[in-house]
Amino acid sequence: MNGAEISVVAGVPKGLLIGGEWVEAAGGAQLAVENPANSEVLAMVADAGPAEALEALAAASRAQAGWAKTPPRTRAEILRAAFEEIMRRQEELSLLMTLEMGKPLAESRGEVAYAAEFFRWFSEEAVRINGDFYISPDGNTRVLTTRAPVGPSLLITPWNFPLAMGTRKIGPALAAGCTVVLKPAKQTPLCSLALAGILIGAGVPKGVVNVITTSNPAAVTEALVGDDRLRKLSFTGSTEVGRELMAKSSQHLLRLSMELGGNAPLIVFEDADLDKAVDGAMLAKMRNMGEACTAANRIMVHRSIAGEFSLRLGERMERLKVAEGTDPTAEVGPLIDQAAVSKVTALVADALGHGAEVVVGGSRIGDRGYFFAPTVIRGVPRHSRMFSEEIFGPIAPVYEFDSDAEAIEMANSTSYGLVAYIFTESFSRAHRTIEALDTGMIGVNQGFVSNAAAPFGGVKHSGFGREGGFEGIHEYLTVKYAALNLG
Ligand code: NAP
Repeated sequence: MNGAEISVVAGVPKGLLIGGEWVEAAGGAQLAVENPANSEVLAMVADAGPAEALEALAAASRAQAGWAKTPPRTRAEILRAAFEEIMRRQEELSLLMTLEMGKPLAESRGEVAYAAEFFRWFSEEAVRINGDFYISPDGNTRVLTTRAPVGPSLLITPWNFPLAMGTRKIGPALAAGCTVVLKPAKQTPLCSLALAGILIGAGVPKGVVNVITTSNPAAVTEALVGDDRLRKLSFTGSTEVGRELMAKSSQHLLRLSMELGGNAPLIVFEDADLDKAVDGAMLAKMRNMGEACTAANRIMVHRSIAGEFSLRLGERMERLKVAEGTDPTAEVGPLIDQAAVSKVTALVADALGHGAEVVVGGSRIGDRGYFFAPTVIRGVPRHSRMFSEEIFGPIAPVYEFDSDAEAIEMANSTSYGLVAYIFTESFSRAHRTIEALDTGMIGVNQGFVSNAAAPFGGVKHSGFGREGGFEGIHEYLTVKYAALNLG
């Protein structure tokens, strides 16, 4: 590591944040954080067990009543101050993110700004938590509704967006008046720990935000969801783990938000503007090296233009600079770990075994770090694994269709339903397709839907609940109704 890298990692707290104090895990247990570009250990952070997790929940529970009573304006101003501080430290946080997660610096800068935006947006929402008052149809009763914070919330986040997945949950939770225990992914805890430091600096009272890093997420989570002081679980991660957590959360009937996996179709109709479609496919596929729940997983192109589209996509993919994320010219960084490389390698082999053909890429690059070549594949049959499994890597399979009905049938024939992208110059075709797709989000002539001001979330096995937008804060609020008899 060079001097700037050493200093940015050294500046991050490495302990557990419990009740406003940075503490060690029992027995000084620690877990290693690796740089996926070279497999070197970047830092050691505390490795909590169930006992420390319960202490964090106890702290969140003690702080809950005071935080719920804190004036919304004060809560808003703390979030706003944290937004300002994240942006002031954008460069430093971007470098930290690139070191622990691998994405190129330019993408890290984008994620830091996106992450900060959730604090700005929810600072603006904190002061607009409304109720209602109306006359019941019988004419006698008055209906009064108010909204109260749900209570202490457990926030579990994945490694692929180390900062934004945290702020997308912490922002609305704090704005609503909920205290939190954040459990980041073990591969990327440093951004969350730095974020916690920023929140404390911005004035978050002791116990309102607690952070637990652990190598044993199952045991830690089991202890927390088994304790009736916890009232809410917001999870972003794989469908498989989400399903397990839902089952465990039934014990105390937790309020749940589940942001799970995706298998996004990207449909290019024959009337699409091909430049826009190729740009959109590049963004939807290659943002975050394809390691995004929103990544275009199945690129479906009308047969009449599929040849030209694949060629143009292949040329663009081949030109991408694959390098360590800290290289300022890098456009594609490493995958997160060996398991990710093995998975995409197996998916490509399976597709080729079923008769698909590689247009560009197709294999791992070098043996240092976890780099995989940007890849375009044609002729992938629907029964290959790639059609139904989340790829989570830089592989763009191109499928062909003959009619709108066939494209929509293909797009919907998956258990997931997070996002779809469509490219067409026809307004009515776009609108018909929006109505026909079983997804929570749709990008029209653009390969990007993430926006703090919009409701992010899916249907079917992509989960439920929305983050961002006007809807996001309601995940942390419960409606209380009083019947007023004026008789
Ligand atoms: P993951 O394995 O499900 O892990 C997500 C989080 O859950 C991590 O913090 C992980 O901790 C924790 N976890 C793992 N096993 C657990 C268990 N048994 N009990 C409790 N917690 C557990 O997912 P991932 O591989 O990190 O992330 C990729 C997945 O996230 C993809 O499927 C992607 O589509 C999805 N994702 C969805 C969205 C969305 O908004 N819909 C956004 C981003 C990512 P450890 O790190 O310690 O294992």
